[in-house]
Amino acid sequence: MNTTGIKQGFKKFFKAAAETFFPEKFTCDICGIEIFEGRLCKDCLKTVTFNDKAVCPVCGRKTVRPEICLECKADLPKFKKAVSPIVYEDGGVALVLKFKNGNGYLKEHFASLMASKLKDFPSSFDCIVYVPMTKKAVNRRGYNQAKLLAESLSEKIGVPWLKDAVIKTADTPEQKTLTKKERIANLEGCFKVAKREEIKGKSVLIVDDVLTTGATCEAMAKRLLSAGAKKIYLATVASVEYKQFKKSKKALTAKKKLMRRRKSERAKRR
Ligand SMILES: [Zn+2]
Ligand SMILES: [Zn+2]
Repeated sequence: MNTTGIKQGFKKFFKAAAETFFPEKFTCDICGIEIFEGRLCKDCLKTVTFNDKAVCPVCGRKTVRPEICLECKADLPKFKKAVSPIVYEDGGVALVLKFKNGNGYLKEHFASLMASKLKDFPSSFDCIVYVPMTKKAVNRRGYNQAKLLAESLSEKIGVPWLKDAVIKTADTPEQKTLTKKERIANLEGCFKVAKREEIKGKSVLIVDDVLTTGATCEAMAKRLLSAGAKKIYLATVASVEYKQFKKSKKALTAKKKLMRRRKSERAKRR
């Protein structure tokens, strides 16, 4: 071996050693400071709630007790079951917004979290589809985040993903003043199943970034079912907590307080 060979050998050895003892530097996915392990710094990690406690077995949203939420009870969704690894609040919101605004690389991490949630799913899927965006919206953002997730998740769970199986023909109309039923009907008209043959008789997993009111996924599930899909499941990165119960509990305490006050007022008057 000549001297250059020895030098190169040394270089290689030191590079390998450096990589072992000083692994690649990472930055926190939320605030961007340098970290040495994991994906989030200690402070940001505290702000993210993972969906690992009580959830509704149908919509997968965080609940107070592990039982079907009142919303699903009142109107059973068209999808059989939904899961989401993160609660859409605080740090969870920050993460999803980063993903939607230029940090597409987060797809890998999100897809891994979703894949581990899907492990204990009762049934398997034939294919993955994603919630589409109009061409105009994709051009504005640069990518469709749901499509990135479908692609990564497909790799991780070994289920094929279908490109452009469902397309969005019009932007979502203004929905603020509408009821959930009206929203779903409105959205249904914006989706078109373009690959009917590949959907027919299949168990389909819809992938999206966030589950809020559920109107978008419900509209898409309806469209897929009427195009011949057998069953629909849903996986999102995050979902809002189901708060109906908390609200009603608050309302109950307020009502109780009011009753007590009235009772004491009546007692005073006597
Ligand atoms: Zn941080
Ligand atoms: Zn539910």
